[in-house]
Amino acid sequence: MRILVTNDDGIHSPALLALQRVLRAFGDVTVIAPDRNQSATSHSLTLHRPLRIHPHGEGVYSVDGTPTDCVLIAFHGLLTERPDLVVSGINLGPNMGEDVFYSGTVAAAIEGSLQGVPALAASLVTRGEPDFGPAAEVVGRVLGQVLARAPQPRWLLNLNLPHRPTDELTGLELTRLGSRVYEDTLVRKVDPRGKDYFWIGGEDPVWQPLPGTDYHAVHEGRVSLTPLQLGLTDPAAIVDMQAWGLHL
Ligand code: MN
Repeated sequence: MRILVTNDDGIHSPALLALQRVLRAFGDVTVIAPDRNQSATSHSLTLHRPLRIHPHGEGVYSVDGTPTDCVLIAFHGLLTERPDLVVSGINLGPNMGEDVFYSGTVAAAIEGSLQGVPALAASLVTRGEPDFGPAAEVVGRVLGQVLARAPQPRWLLNLNLPHRPTDELTGLELTRLGSRVYEDTLVRKVDPRGKDYFWIGGEDPVWQPLPGTDYHAVHEGRVSLTPLQLGLTDPAAIVDMQAWGLHL
């Protein structure tokens, strides 16, 4: 099995090495990651300038682009054979609930899924100094079980891991995406030249603590595994709107 590892935290994230070490047990691992932090770049593509690729030793490359660029380069240029699996992460910080829409980590996994292979995004729920070694071991354990079930093309799994020693994890839960309670996340200030500026950020998000959600599972010390699908069409709305008589 050929495994592509990427991330959105950039080629210097120690999580890449930790994952590479664990995933070698499953096949040939190639790392292709952005050359700098590309967190919250979502599914963006670089279209208006060339992309440069730099080797960093055997099977490790950086790209001066986004996580999605990295996956496209893996599937359509750099590698002689297509990857069979994409693993993205392990992200420093959670990717739960609506945040999956902003996440470069999840976007890279989505791109793998769009390319027709199973993909897993993994994120470590901490803002502090991370220890990716144990988290990578858990990713390997979960992946081993998933791969044993004949993974389907386009399988898209979102894994969030509590940041605690493995023996203090209280299990694994299959979850649905949770939901944020939106607080003030935009700070308005005045710059030294008297002009207003805005800075997106603010407090850490507050989550609705609903059982069955990713946030709830992680909060209880469990590893959260959320299977995602990409079909965004709302079939019920089509039925409702057909009754509206919309016309030109
Ligand atoms: Mn990130």
